[in-house]
Amino acid sequence: DLTAELHERDFEQLVLCRDPEVGLESVIAVHDTTLGPSLGGVRMRRYPSRAAAVADAMNLAQAMTYKAALAGLPLGGGKSVINADPRVANRDEVLIAHAKYIAALNGRYVPALDMGTSVRDLELIGRHVPVVCAQRGDPSYYTARGVVRSIEVALEACGRSVAGSRVAIQGLGNVGLHVARMLCAAEAEVLAADIDPVRVHDAVDELGVTATDLADILFVDVDVVAPCAAGGAIDEHAVPRLRASALVGAANNMLSTPALARDLRERGIVHVPDFVANAGGLIAVEAELRDDESGLADRVDAIADTARDMLNRSELGGIDVVSVALSMATEIIEGNRKYRPWF
Ligand code: NAD
Repeated sequence: DLTAELHERDFEQLVLCRDPEVGLESVIAVHDTTLGPSLGGVRMRRYPSRAAAVADAMNLAQAMTYKAALAGLPLGGGKSVINADPRVANRDEVLIAHAKYIAALNGRYVPALDMGTSVRDLELIGRHVPVVCAQRGDPSYYTARGVVRSIEVALEACGRSVAGSRVAIQGLGNVGLHVARMLCAAEAEVLAADIDPVRVHDAVDELGVTATDLADILFVDVDVVAPCAAGGAIDEHAVPRLRASALVGAANNMLSTPALARDLRERGIVHVPDFVANAGGLIAVEAELRDDESGLADRVDAIADTARDMLNRSELGGIDVVSVALSMATEIIEGNRKYRPWF
């Protein structure tokens, strides 16, 4: 129920946009700008309903707030979604109409790349808004780097190291393939699956990964399962079937509901939340926005310290790691609330 949801959630601003002339229907969700302007992708996809588009924008924007806070970035959390098929005939008109609504926010929301949009689209939007994240560089290497640092920490918590460990990767896309490369270079044994057989074939050729059935990849007997495909891969049916000691990956909103973190804890499965493990891409994007990439790799590697701290707090407090991560992020945001460094 959207009305109840709007009452319960602490959103700064939600903009429902419509331009019947060009057929635009979109949402801009600004979750929190305490730490800085809300940065987040422009997603373009056809949703079953407007409510579904609003819910997706809100969930993604909120995750961006936590991701930025825990990565120590001067950014807030936002997201926008255009409820349209990315192949729509008047795509440019739709993007420009959306950009005009973004412009009215005067820099409180900084648009970036997301599912269904391209660098070219962002350049087009950039002509109509005060700030855009054009993202000429591909952040997925840094996303993968942070995921691998988080896998190392999870393995450490299980008393193991990467060399000789077995890791199952779901999805060999931009991020998953980089993760596979880094793990193979560190002498892990990698199992992988992708709905695109060419990607699997190429990874077998290049890296010698073990091709695994799509239906089995999350449930094989390995040390770590790394979901690097779509969100929601781990639901209430998947948790009891996991055989891995750790669950760490790149996929945004990998748990179908955050409450599943409690079930993972009960099963003794070490978990690093996605919005911690996959923050490397955002760290790289923010560096690109400031045009200063000095120390970038070190700042991405520092995700390991945050992940370790979280796992320790979870262990000591007997609390699931997602709750620990959310309270750490809230503490950072609340600590800055009265200063509002940028606003
Ligand atoms: P991508 O589209 O390049 O790769 C996804 C891959 O998963 C594709 O190869 C696709 O064929 C495969 N796939 C889709 N459904 C599958 C399934 N059911 N089983 C197995 N394979 C499947 O995307 P990406 O950029 O690599 O991102 C992967 C995930 O990480 C996404 O959830 C994304 O939101 C998240 N993420 C990405 C970045 C980044 O820098 N690219 C940053 C943060 C989070």
